[in-house]
Amino acid sequence: MKKKKPIIDLRAGRKKKLIVIDPGHGGHDPGNLGVIKVPEKALTLAIAKVLKKEFEKTGRYQVILTRNIDIYIKLGKQREIAHEKQADLFISLHLDAFKNKNVRGATVYTLSEKASNKQAAALAARENIQDVIPEIEYEWNSKTVQPILVDLMKRETMNFSKGLAKELVVELKKVIKVRKYSHQSAGFVVLKGLDIPSVLIEMAYLSNKKDAKIIIKKKTHKKISTAIVKAVDRFFSNNFVHNG
Ligand SMILES: [Zn+2]
Repeated sequence: MKKKKPIIDLRAGRKKKLIVIDPGHGGHDPGNLGVIKVPEKALTLAIAKVLKKEFEKTGRYQVILTRNIDIYIKLGKQREIAHEKQADLFISLHLDAFKNKNVRGATVYTLSEKASNKQAAALAARENIQDVIPEIEYEWNSKTVQPILVDLMKRETMNFSKGLAKELVVELKKVIKVRKYSHQSAGFVVLKGLDIPSVLIEMAYLSNKKDAKIIIKKKTHKKISTAIVKAVDRFFSNNFVHNG
């Protein structure tokens, strides 16, 4: 008989908060190309590496990247990594593109069942199209789990995610251009089913010349990373996120 894996609370014995950073796209999936010749997948990875360093420098965080080279990770696998490791936070990094080349600025997205507007819904559709696997909402829709419990867990996580998004907007605003509707929500596959506070940051528009020029700079990567660390610091000090 196959032995059941013991359930170990990994968070309980941890001295540092564990953050999973997901550099969007990779491998055969370049993401957006925009007006510069650098694809989204390369920029998200470059920024993720800087962000990892900035987090770890504080001594308060340990970071796992869903990929640290140019490989393709099947959509859905990212959240599996975060779930398996019982991460305290999940951050997915992306860069947007839009047919109106004047649109620029960063947006922080959180998961919701209903998109906050048409554009957010379209973006979620674009980012989700990376793969054709069906959405397996094994946790949220599972009939074996008590619906009320699932609902509460989901709502709590969503509230935490919203709180984090708020802090992120405050800090990102200080270093880069942020869109007017800076925090939006939509049904991102990458964020679905996670019982971990999770956000997806579209850091800039690669379709906008100004944004593209700024986001390609190493100086900007550092600035964005510092801002994210500050926001996360405040998020954890604001919220009593239980460890165990
Ligand atoms: Zn993307």
